[in-house]
Amino acid sequence: MTRSHPNLAEAVTSGVFRIPLPLPLPDLTEINSYALVDDDSLILVDPGWREETSEAILVDALAELDRTPADVSGMLITHSHWDHYTLAMDWQQRYSIPVHLGHDEHHTIDAFDLNDGLHPQQVRLLRLAGAPELADTIDRLELDDYEKDLRFGPPDHWLDHGQVLTGADQRIEVHATPGHTRGHVVYDLPGTGVTFTGDHLLPRITPSIGFERTPEPSPLTSYLGSLRASAEGPSHRMLPAHGALTARTDVRARELLAHHDERLTAIHDAVAAGASTAAGIAGGMVWTRRNRALSELSPVHAMTAILEVRAHLVHLATQGRLTMTTGEVESFHTS
Ligand SMILES: [Zn+2]
Repeated sequence: MTRSHPNLAEAVTSGVFRIPLPLPLPDLTEINSYALVDDDSLILVDPGWREETSEAILVDALAELDRTPADVSGMLITHSHWDHYTLAMDWQQRYSIPVHLGHDEHHTIDAFDLNDGLHPQQVRLLRLAGAPELADTIDRLELDDYEKDLRFGPPDHWLDHGQVLTGADQRIEVHATPGHTRGHVVYDLPGTGVTFTGDHLLPRITPSIGFERTPEPSPLTSYLGSLRASAEGPSHRMLPAHGALTARTDVRARELLAHHDERLTAIHDAVAAGASTAAGIAGGMVWTRRNRALSELSPVHAMTAILEVRAHLVHLATQGRLTMTTGEVESFHTS
């Protein structure tokens, strides 16, 4: 058979295909979805955002594998962020394909109510972080068109750490990796030496921490624990949700641990030098690869920056390396 276009489904390893799908987002333009295939079944991992172009590409990619959506036997989702979960929600309803998701994502799904605003917890945390004006700006944000009319509800199966699934001729191990979100899971294929890392391990980006409806009290503490588990676990080829497929799980986990160690030291030093709030410390740091000031960032990026600093401060307080005083604004001091 001759093809006039590049393959939409790229063979990664035996029985595993990558299907890159476009995203309607300003920053992240693509998600790596994956298909696990054998003669009888096909399982999708993180099949992307529910949007027409993306869905059409996914259907064409399945056709390259001689399948249709009706042949998909299950969808494994790493976490409930919409770029991973919303097409799965749609196909769950339209094709009755069972959706699997980590158990602790139920906090965010149970609490989801757009009447509370887009980011109600982040607005509250920004006030605690000493950024009331930014909190007001975030509070006024409305859904973009591409975010409207998306289903968001529970999966068919909640997954627990250590659970083993079988399908598409693979043994699939579920590992809880809380941090990026509290119910994030990765899927290990020990037989083929690869791991679907979702947004827990990304090749170039430092994953955001606790950006969800109901973040846990110290998401960075959980994330560092998840990174240590990945660093000490088997060295698998990373199949991340965004970016290239060249890194290894243990190596990338150690790089991210080193990055957060540096951040923790810098933030501890800033408190020792007299800064006391997350917003104050974030304002004294530079951001993005272009070393921008906090004031140059878009509101959503500034929110992410401040809440990342706050996550580091709370982790330092959890460890007893800083003391934390909570009032209208949280302040941090050296112990
Ligand atoms: Zn995510």
